Amino acid sequence: MNATVPGTVTVPFLDLAADNAVLRDDLDLAWKSVTGHGRFVGGPEVAAFETAFAGFCGTRHALGVGNGTDALEIILRSLGIGRGDEVIVPANSFVATVEAVCTAGARPRFVDVLPDTLLLDPDQVAAAVGPRTAAVIAVHLFGQMADMPALEAITRAHGLALVEDAAQAHGAEFAGRRAGSVGVAAAFSFYPGKNLGALGDGGAVVTDDTGLAARMRCLADHGRSDTDRHRHPLRGVNSRLDTLQAAILLAKLPALDAATAHRRAAMTLYRDLLPACCTPVVQRPEAASVHHLAVVQVDDRAAVTARLDAHGVGWGVHYPVPCHRQPAFAEFADGPLPVTEAAAGRILSLPMYATIAAETVGIVCAVLAGGGAVLSGARP
Ligand SMILES: *Cc1c(COP(=O)(O)O)cnc(C)c1O
Repeated sequence: MNATVPGTVTVPFLDLAADNAVLRDDLDLAWKSVTGHGRFVGGPEVAAFETAFAGFCGTRHALGVGNGTDALEIILRSLGIGRGDEVIVPANSFVATVEAVCTAGARPRFVDVLPDTLLLDPDQVAAAVGPRTAAVIAVHLFGQMADMPALEAITRAHGLALVEDAAQAHGAEFAGRRAGSVGVAAAFSFYPGKNLGALGDGGAVVTDDTGLAARMRCLADHGRSDTDRHRHPLRGVNSRLDTLQAAILLAKLPALDAATAHRRAAMTLYRDLLPACCTPVVQRPEAASVHHLAVVQVDDRAAVTARLDAHGVGWGVHYPVPCHRQPAFAEFADGPLPVTEAAAGRILSLPMYATIAAETVGIVCAVLAGGGAVLSGARP
């Protein structure tokens, strides 16, 4: 985080090296223990992490898989959802959500989000339910859980599966219930930039349903029988959490609550210091967000990002093109989704990570307020 030009500062959007540096000794011990025992696939750290992560989510079962996208596909296929079925998804998500619906063989049905939280709109979900609907995927985007009580009421009334995409919401809560523990099953990602990040790809599925857990474990391991490894009752996939990544995640999990508390403090500071041109995404009073991203809405994004660029402040847009407008998924679009489309042009993600300093948040807000000159010589 050194100044690139005298008088300017460099604030990274994400600083994974800094986030991981505070745990370096633990991480070194973790990978050394794995290189020592040599069980690189299915080693003891995998089961240990699965137990710890199920405990963290408050679910009976957790299964480590290759990544968050696989996790979603494995859930859907294990629920028997595929060809001929429709799955309701918010168009405002990372493409992985809809990708998994398609690879499972089902048809995505895009719906709009609420204008304040930018999360799945329960009324739109209710209106989209049809004879082929089999499931709803609630995406807990930016770290905040969707309105699960409202979605549960709809899915229960219609006999649909409620699946959680919790890739951005490790430890988030809604009305006191944890992400992953509300739906029939939930998918998590441990992509390095997620709130709980591996040193590479990783993911998990969690569920309370013992039968579903067994089917998911079988499917993720080549559809292999758990009593005879040479028998394959299901046509499965190969999607495993590496022992090395499990060991890293096991070392990082105990520090996650403190990291989340730090993100919450940083977000509170953003809300206090942001200038009027930046409206943060609303957090519902029932929701305890884990602030995977610090998302604001602005009227003139090009002007705001030009100012951030001029002062070396990193930013992102999650996501500039809604899923139903992506060429790969446009065939499933059936009509405009005005809230999602309007938000796509206005959203802006500000620097946010587990070790972001209060001073850094102050600098970002000063730049946004147009006070760049005061930053001369400052360091985040
Ligand atoms: C990251 C992410 C995924 C996919 O996770 P991978 O581990 O990258 O496959 C799915 N859904 C959402 C909302 C995500 O942010």
